Amino acid sequence: MELLKNKIQTEGRVFNDSLLKVDSFLNHQLDPQLMLKMGEEFAKRFQAEPITKILTIEASGIAVSIMAGLTINVPVVFARKKKSAVTNDFYCAQAYSFTKQETNTITVDKKFLDPTDKILIIDDFLANGEAALGLVDIVNQAGATVVGIGIVIEKSFQPGAKKLKELGYRVESLARIASFSNGNVNFL
Ligand code: 5GP
Repeated sequence: MELLKNKIQTEGRVFNDSLLKVDSFLNHQLDPQLMLKMGEEFAKRFQAEPITKILTIEASGIAVSIMAGLTINVPVVFARKKKSAVTNDFYCAQAYSFTKQETNTITVDKKFLDPTDKILIIDDFLANGEAALGLVDIVNQAGATVVGIGIVIEKSFQPGAKKLKELGYRVESLARIASFSNGNVNFL
């Protein structure tokens, strides 16, 4: 998606050899127009799929997911990184956080996933695939079906995309990064 790639080129900062900072439009301050266009792009790419719900993970997956949910006209559920104090009836999975270097237990209340659900998983970044695989695990526990995985920024030099595709999941990424070099972002 050219608009996103331009935004990454102009506002993204390569933080170290594997981390990209995009907090001016995706991870801290949010660009609503861009979020809407990305949500519409996910809706277009997955239009043939009978999606009943979008599943994402807090916090940065939520904004783009809600725009996709608005366009597709389905609810959006986000996995929590902290357990709710008011329910014990949840699905839970482990996901090692690439950025924080710690294992998160992610949870989704059982009442929000049904075995008949056809789930589109959305997240902001794809690195090693831990977050996406944690969400897939939760969908499987619910007996529901993953119809696809939508990613805003895929770092294709890390193993997540390959792992998910080898497991048979369709992965659609709006920007795919081949490498970082001298502080520059090189797209595939
Ligand atoms: P994975 O679980 O695929 O290893 O990493 C994906 C998760 O880690 C995303 O949910 C995102 O929050 C975070 N992440 C991974 N790489 C980056 C990055 O380069 N920049 C930022 N801002 N977050 C990242």
